Amino acid sequence: MQKASKLFEMVLSSSLEMILASSRDALALCDADFRVLRLNPPFTELCGYGEDDLQGQPLASIASAESWTEVAAAVAAEGDWQGQFELIKRPGQQGLQQVRRQRMQIQLRRIAPTLGAGPLWLVWVLPIQLALDEAGSIQQDQLTGLPNRALFLDRIDQSLIAAPRAGKSVALLMIGVDRFVLINEGLGRAAGDQVLQVIAQRLADNIRRSDTLARLDGYMFGLVMQIATTGDSVLVAEKILRALNQSISLASQQISVSVSIGISIFPSDGQAREQLLQHAESAMRHQKKQGGNHYQFFAAEMNQAAKSRIELEQDIRQALLNREFVVYYQPKVCLEGNAVVGAEALVRWQRPGVGLVPPGQFIPVAEETGLIGGIGDFVLHQACLQGSDWLRKGLNPVRISVNVTASQFRDPQLLQKVADALAESGMPADYLELEITESMLIGDVEQVISKLNAIRAMGIHISIDDFGTGYSSLSYLSRFPITTLKIDRAFIQDMVSNPRTAEITQAIIGLSRGLDLEVVAEGAESLEHVQLLREQSCDLVQGFFYSRPLPADEFEAILRRGFLYDS
Ligand code: C2E
Ligand code: MG
Ligand code: MG
Repeated sequence: MQKASKLFEMVLSSSLEMILASSRDALALCDADFRVLRLNPPFTELCGYGEDDLQGQPLASIASAESWTEVAAAVAAEGDWQGQFELIKRPGQQGLQQVRRQRMQIQLRRIAPTLGAGPLWLVWVLPIQLALDEAGSIQQDQLTGLPNRALFLDRIDQSLIAAPRAGKSVALLMIGVDRFVLINEGLGRAAGDQVLQVIAQRLADNIRRSDTLARLDGYMFGLVMQIATTGDSVLVAEKILRALNQSISLASQQISVSVSIGISIFPSDGQAREQLLQHAESAMRHQKKQGGNHYQFFAAEMNQAAKSRIELEQDIRQALLNREFVVYYQPKVCLEGNAVVGAEALVRWQRPGVGLVPPGQFIPVAEETGLIGGIGDFVLHQACLQGSDWLRKGLNPVRISVNVTASQFRDPQLLQKVADALAESGMPADYLELEITESMLIGDVEQVISKLNAIRAMGIHISIDDFGTGYSSLSYLSRFPITTLKIDRAFIQDMVSNPRTAEITQAIIGLSRGLDLEVVAEGAESLEHVQLLREQSCDLVQGFFYSRPLPADEFEAILRRGFLYDS
């Protein structure tokens, strides 16, 4: 590489330098073996890699194998060459176009042959960059760079096949710009085009990479996404509405825009692509007539569900302000000696006029809307304050576990928040445990490990909640600094009647022992459950058999008594 850049220094004339710097077309300079020497900014933008990333790398590393074989053969036979080349963009950098592989027309020119060192190659990407299908027809909208209708239809077909296999549904969103005619006629077509480009960019910024956003025609965009629940599509629709709420600066003026979104769901609103498209479009038109700037489902009951969800979100927001959340504590009992050695902190919502609302009815919405942050902070602080209060009172020490959702776990502030809660309450870290689930261990494994290590380094315990129900890779288990496994209650409740399930719990208990982890069985409801768990040498049990989750004062009474039952 060093040799190559020296050579480059020697050979590159100032005029070539100037061309690279000033060209609006994407240019790359390669050595005789097609290793990259220089890239100009349009080229780095096109492929998503920086110049440093590719310097010294073969150009073939960003080309599809077939296309590169073709290029290499043509160059060997003909020297200078012009033809099609399929660029593979940097993963996750496909940008607005959402196209990972992009076919383009390139020209290879041999320049400045040097003494004994072979030629340099100038790679010039001709300014025709269109996503093409197998038959060579264009699949990209020229104004916005988004996939066009043809590609969109194809992606819908793919989703309709793939989603059922993954146990998912499909949401089809038709997104129409409200009163676009006024913009186009009032400000002129050029301004209208610019507005559409900004809208396209904002839409693209607010969707997942796995979803396909397309410009269908005129002022109409389409979005197809695989979803686990219809709530997922509501979330995206709301995000889109929020993103478009900010006005667009155009020359010297600010333009406010809004969109109407119609949503149809596969399979409930139809099996066929055309039917789903029609339904989404009719919902969109209906929304437009209502004044726009909102979304609407095709099916009436979905609108009702979405409405309740929004109301619930507002109520949770208000409940946080009104301090309507309380923490209950469920004992964890050591099977050897029956002592209460731990407690799980479980949040409840004391909803005026309704009563005690269990977390399953509000945690998912809180998680989707970001309100979990407020609830999570409250539970964490409350649990630490409570734990340290019990320790100060000289009661039997209990380790308190606090549940952490995926977004809480991803929060870069998590460590700071936990440290603050410990500092403010005076609770020793050893008495705090965080419960996470297996699904949070997927993704950027190195980052997860370093976060878990930092938590462990503070002295806090980490348990895997609902173990056995999610994605569990046993090899990961040995890499993560975990202290506890909580066997999901589904296994416990099935183990008495199903010997195969009993084998599974036995295996998890054995696994924990082998990895030197503590093991907790959740959801033990009967004496039979407890007896079997004792036979299997399980450490700790949490379940209705011993106690339901209790308000703090009732839990404290147990700690004072020193045992669970007056027997
Ligand atoms: P989890 O963390 O798995 O909590 C255990 C759940 O099992 C609790 O439900 C508990 O009441 C219930 N349970 C315990 N023993 C038995 C039993 O013997 N039989 C049966 N049928 N159920 C039993 P809960 O309190 O309704 O909480 C449900 C879920 O909500 C929790 O599951 C947890 O994922 C979440 N959650 C609860 N509190 C919080 C919180 O403060 N923050 C977060 N992020 N999530 C929470
Ligand atoms: Mg839990
Ligand atoms: Mg659990």
